[in-house]
Amino acid sequence: MVGLIGGMSWESSAQYYRLINEQVREARGGVHSARLLLWSFDFAQIEALQAAGDWDGAGTLLVDAAQQLELAGASAVVICTNTMHRLADTVQAAIGVPLLHIADPTATAVKAAGIQRIGLLGTAFTMEQAFYTGRLERQHGLQVVVPDAADRVLVHRVIYEELVRGHVLPASREAYRGVMRRLVERGAQGIILGCTEIMLLVADDDAGVPLFDTTALHAQAAAQHLLAQR
Ligand code: GLU
Repeated sequence: MVGLIGGMSWESSAQYYRLINEQVREARGGVHSARLLLWSFDFAQIEALQAAGDWDGAGTLLVDAAQQLELAGASAVVICTNTMHRLADTVQAAIGVPLLHIADPTATAVKAAGIQRIGLLGTAFTMEQAFYTGRLERQHGLQVVVPDAADRVLVHRVIYEELVRGHVLPASREAYRGVMRRLVERGAQGIILGCTEIMLLVADDDAGVPLFDTTALHAQAAAQHLLAQR
C-alpha cells in the first residue's frame, strides 16, 4: 500500500487518488485499483503553520501522519504537495519505508526531455527556499529560473486565494500565461508546475514550452511503486 499525506489541499489530493487508480487499472486491467491509504489534513491548520513559519510544528504533524501510515501498512509514503517537501528529510528520518520525493520524478522527466534550464512555478516557499530549487540544482544538475518578485506574489496569491479553494478563474489562467511567457523570455526551455493545484489551471497549450506537472509525475511514481510490488 502507498500512504498518501494529503489534504494540502484536497483539490490536488483528489487528482492523486484518480491518477494513481487510473494507472493501476490500466496496467493490471479488469477492476483492479490501487491499494492506498489517505491521511487528509485540514488545510487551514497547515496553512496557519506555514504562514507563521512554524515548520517545526508542521513537521510534528507530518511525522505523526507518516508514522501512522507506516504502522497501518504503507510500504512507501507520498507527501501530496511540493511545499511540504520542505519537511521531506525530517519525515524520511522518522520512518522505515521510502518517502517518494516529488522533485525526483520531476527532474527525471525534465532531463529526459533534454532540458537543462527549467522554469519553476509554485508557492513562494517552493520558489524562494532552497529545499526545492536546491534539490533540482545540486542533486539533479538542473538550472532553475523562478519568476521575478512581482510574478512570484501573483503565482502564490492565486494558489492560496483561488486554487486550494476550488476556484479556477480564466483571468488567472491568462495571468499565469504571462508569467510563463516571461520565464521563457529569460531562457526557460520548459516549466515545472511545482504546486500540485496548478494543473487545475493551466494545460500544455498555455505555454510554448513543455510543462512538467508535478501532480501527474508524482502520482506516476506512486503507481510505479505499487506495480513493482508482488
Ligand atoms: N499543493 C501546493 C503545493 O504543491 C500548495 C499547498 C501547500 O502549501 O501545501 O505546494
